[in-house]
Amino acid sequence: MNSTPTTPPRPFDVTAVFPQLAPLARTATRLHPRRGTPSPQHSSIGGPLLWPVGEPWPHCEGPHVVDGINLALSPADVRLKRRISTASRGRSLTEQERETLERIIPPRKYPVRVAVAPYEGSIAMLPVAQLYKRDVPDLPTPEGADLLQVLWCPFDHPSMPKTALFWRSAATVTDILTTPPEPPAMQFDDYLPEPCLLRPEQVTEYPDHLEVSKELQEQLGNWRMWQAADVEIDSDYESCPEEFYDSELAGAPGWKVGGWPRWTSTDPGPRLCTACGSDMDALLTIATFESDDDSSWLPHQEPADESLPGFDPYERRQPTAVQIGSGYDQQLYVCPATPEHPHSELMH
Ligand SMILES: [Zn+2]
Ligand SMILES: [Zn+2]
Repeated sequence: MNSTPTTPPRPFDVTAVFPQLAPLARTATRLHPRRGTPSPQHSSIGGPLLWPVGEPWPHCEGPHVVDGINLALSPADVRLKRRISTASRGRSLTEQERETLERIIPPRKYPVRVAVAPYEGSIAMLPVAQLYKRDVPDLPTPEGADLLQVLWCPFDHPSMPKTALFWRSAATVTDILTTPPEPPAMQFDDYLPEPCLLRPEQVTEYPDHLEVSKELQEQLGNWRMWQAADVEIDSDYESCPEEFYDSELAGAPGWKVGGWPRWTSTDPGPRLCTACGSDMDALLTIATFESDDDSSWLPHQEPADESLPGFDPYERRQPTAVQIGSGYDQQLYVCPATPEHPHSELMH
């Protein structure tokens, strides 16, 4: 499991068919998260941060509101719940496991009273990603920094968690905070990332068809141009070759740094820096899903995961256990002038 997953080559070189795409090529670093036990010295998702003892842990001031249908569990209870569900796979629950689950999620008494419960006070943020420049070639870093730490408040603000970014020089952190505070509750279990190690890989990407010039958009949607180029493309795409382009040739799915964002749930919108007005770049994609099993972006893995004990296909598609909305991506953007200008985030 230690070798780097490798993205198969794209079905063909799209710039040979549409030369106007060539100058729009960007590299992205696919992070390829895999469950593991990262340390503060590792690049990770949901892992411990290299956080200086003397620096206050980030908190979010809210507002934090949960409707009565959702049980806002603590991270400790979500970990326990996940542990029981993994351990009991393929068998029925033990008496003790059942009791633990009933303590975490008490059996519901009907009718359900839908109360709106605000959480008062500030909420400790959770580690989402820690990225060392040495592992992630596409990470833009301010002068003197070689490490990005991303945390979030595990409540909707209003439709997804609110993130905070910290850039640092790893060498300046000597005393590491070992037991950071945790939030008393999270809006959804899906906002607790499972600890993952990363197997970063650099790939080349092109913009979504909605982000290119009108002229190029028309070319990408013109079936005759694809046919004339004699490339391998399924005739199912005859009425919408741009969909083939978006899913197989443009941007890679899954967690990644840099590159071009994928727009699945909304059309591209302007992303302008609030400090200087620059057009912002994609920084980090916090994805619900890695590649589907039938996607050409599914990396070659070695050895075959099916042979590993405890193999769970769910872990391959969603190793971080994070879900944004009903299966979308949370995209963080950063100012190209300096990563220290305020970042922005969109769900798509
Ligand atoms: Zn918050
Ligand atoms: Zn700026």
